[in-house]
Amino acid sequence: MKKLTSKEMPIGGVIDEKASSLEYKTGAWKSYKPIRDKKKCINCLLCAVYCPENCIKVKEGKVQDADLSYCKGCGICATECPVKAIEMKKLEECDL
Ligand code: SF4
Ligand code: SF4
Repeated sequence: MKKLTSKEMPIGGVIDEKASSLEYKTGAWKSYKPIRDKKKCINCLLCAVYCPENCIKVKEGKVQDADLSYCKGCGICATECPVKAIEMKKLEECDL
């Protein structure tokens, strides 16, 4: 197979508009949901920093519950939480 140069390669995805990912609610295919225990949470904000989807917002210095419209259920927030305040629960075990 002939190797293509960068100029010969077909154009891939073109993002012609900023923040277009906000339109795509990609949280529908998660299997787990992060449940934060507000009594254990010390508001260190690490979960918000590490969430790869930026779906844990901070308001007035305090973390908010994850926006499940974008949450993939990856569990990184629960892994990084120093006080284990976030539990990943199977979606079918949660009250939605
Ligand atoms: S489970 Fe993953 S995507 Fe969802 S809030 Fe936690 S870090 Fe973000
Ligand atoms: S990482 Fe844990 S303790 Fe820190 S803000 Fe998030 S839930 Fe709270």
